[in-house]
Formats: sequence, structure tokens, C-alpha cells
Amino acid sequence: MGLFDRFSKRKEESTTTEDLPPPQCPHTALVPRWDQLDDMGKEDLVSHYYCEGCSSTFTREEGERIMRELKNNLPMN
Ligand SMILES: [Zn+2]
Repeated sequence: MGLFDRFSKRKEESTTTEDLPPPQCPHTALVPRWDQLDDMGKEDLVSHYYCEGCSSTFTREEGERIMRELKNNLPMN
């Protein structure tokens, strides 16, 4: 039993090296959110942006900047 314990412990130690930090979300799933229902659909009245990938929220300025950068990074067709 003692030998088996040592094997299982060693296995645990080897897996910890694979404990990498989560990859940074590219925020490709940003959706606009409006506080006022009457403003829905009006891009210049967006209250904030919500990322469905990581559940982060961004101000309108931040969301627009992120989406602009994403567009710039798209390969040209
Ligand atoms: Zn995200």
C-alpha cells in the first residue's frame, strides 16, 4: 500500500506542472446592452458591452475599441 501511495503522489505532482493560467479572452463575443429599452438598437446609446465568452462588461468606449481592434486583426479577403 505504501508503494502505491508514493506512485499516486508522484502522479499528482506531475499534473501540477500543467496547471497553466487560463488563456486570455479575445472578447470576440461582445454584445451591446442598453439600460433603457427605448434605446435598444441605437449604437450611439449603448449603455455597455457584455462579453459572452468571459462574462466581462465594458463601457461603450472600451467595447467599441475592442471591436475595432478585432476588425483590424481580421485577415483581408
Ligand atoms: Zn471576453
